[in-house]
Amino acid sequence: MKIVLATGNKGKLREFKQMCDYEVVPFSDLLSDVEIVEDGDTFAENALIKARTIYQKLGEGYLVIADDSGISLPILNGAPGIYSARYAGEGATDKENLHKLLETVKEKGLQSTPAYYTAAIAIVSKYGEYVVHGWMHGDVVSELRGDKGFGYDPMFVPKGYRQTLGELDDEVKSRISHRAQALALVKPIIQMLQRK
Ligand code: IMP
Repeated sequence: MKIVLATGNKGKLREFKQMCDYEVVPFSDLLSDVEIVEDGDTFAENALIKARTIYQKLGEGYLVIADDSGISLPILNGAPGIYSARYAGEGATDKENLHKLLETVKEKGLQSTPAYYTAAIAIVSKYGEYVVHGWMHGDVVSELRGDKGFGYDPMFVPKGYRQTLGELDDEVKSRISHRAQALALVKPIIQMLQRK
């Protein structure tokens, strides 16, 4: 079974390729012009919507995985959460979303405040559907530091570290991230499905 990743996000794709010890093909190599309407109320629902949409287009010989993820701040009642990719508005870039969060934190007069990333990864194949989650806790700070990672990483300091994910090596993020935690749970599911 070919493993296809249902994401167009370059940052996610790079991290998946780094972290998976099996081959993952982005869906854009196989399909063009697929519209995915992410109208779920949770990370899990949206991950399933993405994976199902691509699986339905590709068919039985494929195992599709999709990640829906985002950052949540308790001080903002969990925002941006599932709206992380469009926090600054529909079609906003990662940079615009990052600056909107930075301004929001600054407006509250905070130098740092707790935050966490969530990743839901859905797996859809002819044998059924699975969803797993991973989290990474830490703080967001009121300044941007470093240019590694993507999205909100320049303002996120993981618990136990002093540097932001924009400053820390990719190798650190690929050990501790929400996506890494979720992918660790994906591996045995894929192995089990490939034995069927
Ligand atoms: P999705 O593609 O709809 O799941 O949106 C995910 C959004 O959450 C991205 O556009 C980023 O803004 C944010 N995000 C998710 N994971 C990360 C990460 O590892 N680092 C930084 N931002 C992330």
